[in-house]
Amino acid sequence: MGLKYSSKINKIRSFALLLIFIGVAVMYVGIIFKANAWVMTSFIILGFLFIIASTIVYFWIGMLSTKTVQVVCPSCQKPTKMLGRVDLCMHCSEPLTLDRSLEGKEFDEKYNSKRK
Ligand SMILES: [Zn+2]
Repeated sequence: MGLKYSSKINKIRSFALLLIFIGVAVMYVGIIFKANAWVMTSFIILGFLFIIASTIVYFWIGMLSTKTVQVVCPSCQKPTKMLGRVDLCMHCSEPLTLDRSLEGKEFDEKYNSKRK
């Protein structure tokens, strides 16, 4: 597998973390412009919105986590969570599937959107 592929939940989690960093950075820019109260307030509100967005994403991860299936990875023997019909192990990126008909086939994200 040429492409580096991380499990979906990890991917969403890093996105939420990125939003927090952007939010903090935007607020920091606001502090640089503290001479102008309006500019500072706008930046701080904008930064705050990013942090709220991140909170929503974290909440969404929580919702998704209830739908995940806990499996033991056959490759590294660690318990991992998977989402959808195919996903990757959180620890070693081993492709996992719940569908016997897809077993042994190459990992493809598209399997998740296909209907039975
Ligand atoms: Zn594994």
